[in-house]
Amino acid sequence: MKKPVYMDYAATTPVDPVVAEEMCKYLTLDGVFGNPASRTHAYGWQAEAAVEGARRQVAGLIHADPREIVWTSGATESDNLAIKGAVAGRDNPHIVTSVVEHKAVLDTCKWLEQQGVSVTWLKPGSDGRIAPDQVASALRDNTVLVSLMMVNNELGCQTDVAAIGTLLRERGVLFHVDAAQAAGKTEVDVSTAPVDLLSLSGHKVYGPKGIGALYVRRSPDVRIEAQIHGGGHERGMRSGTLPTHQIVGMGKAFELASELLEQDKALLEDLRHRFLQGLESLDGVALNGSDRHRVPGIINLSFDGVDAESLMLGLRELAVSSGSACASATIEPSFVLKGIGLDDEQAHRALRFSFGRFSTPEEVDFAAAQIVDVVTRLRSVR
Ligand SMILES: *Cc1c(COP(=O)(O)O)cnc(C)c1O
Repeated sequence: MKKPVYMDYAATTPVDPVVAEEMCKYLTLDGVFGNPASRTHAYGWQAEAAVEGARRQVAGLIHADPREIVWTSGATESDNLAIKGAVAGRDNPHIVTSVVEHKAVLDTCKWLEQQGVSVTWLKPGSDGRIAPDQVASALRDNTVLVSLMMVNNELGCQTDVAAIGTLLRERGVLFHVDAAQAAGKTEVDVSTAPVDLLSLSGHKVYGPKGIGALYVRRSPDVRIEAQIHGGGHERGMRSGTLPTHQIVGMGKAFELASELLEQDKALLEDLRHRFLQGLESLDGVALNGSDRHRVPGIINLSFDGVDAESLMLGLRELAVSSGSACASATIEPSFVLKGIGLDDEQAHRALRFSFGRFSTPEEVDFAAAQIVDVVTRLRSVR
């Protein structure tokens, strides 16, 4: 069977071949396999040098100081470390987040709520965005942290991180941003954006799965408490032997993302335009989320009179999803779509198409033609 066309880049990306080739040099006896924490011999020193090189590459993409990068196992762990680590030890803390965050943030905040932390859950407008004045009015004297994502993984819409960060800085409240879907897709610059903690993932940026990072600002100095103890790696913030091959892979992937940012963006703007044009002959198609403040590669569409389950069954030659990969296992409608005000039925009609670096115009044309066919057929048998 021919493989379906991959249109689920928001769930994960393939590892760039350049990255995969680099990673292989850090595994075997003839490669750099040493423990980066081994201080007594060259095996360790070489591995440490590789890890520090990758730290500079990751820091480079977001304009951070390499000393502000803490390696983790992925954005899920980064989110947990940032939020739990910022709240730990605080007296009667209050945090602010939104109902359209990734599960890694939602479930962490829900868990903290059960532990007695007060949480304000902001609801975005129908465009999927949280307005700065919503954040301002949610703040209390005991607010310690606001956690909002930079780019929504289901809708592709972008948060006004600069404006929200500026008002939080004035109020002395920490700002955590999940940038897993933003890195490599749009400019992420912590040298200008007032962000204190920022989560990154390797596998959303053509790097390997199982590796991520948390940016922790040094000036003004941000203190978080470790959530994993033992050995005191990463300046005590995250213990555990560093996975050199994963780290080198994420570093190379982030270096490529810096070099290719404009090129990748231009390709995806083109493909988005082409895809939506290919669907123009269909009416009753609605774009979910902002069309102005968004990244080009994530497109969430609802089709009148067609439920997403049947549409996906018809679209066997396309690999797409009805929401986030983590939520796809359930048939519950997406909490993100419900969060922007869609009712159950409307949410059940939505599909997410996400493109990436290796998507082609031919694939996008094929996908649009298939969608037009299947939607037309499903509507006619109604
Ligand atoms: C994928 C994703 C995560 C989880 O990242 P992992 O590295 O898979 O743990 C967190 N937040 C957002 C917005 C994501 O898209």
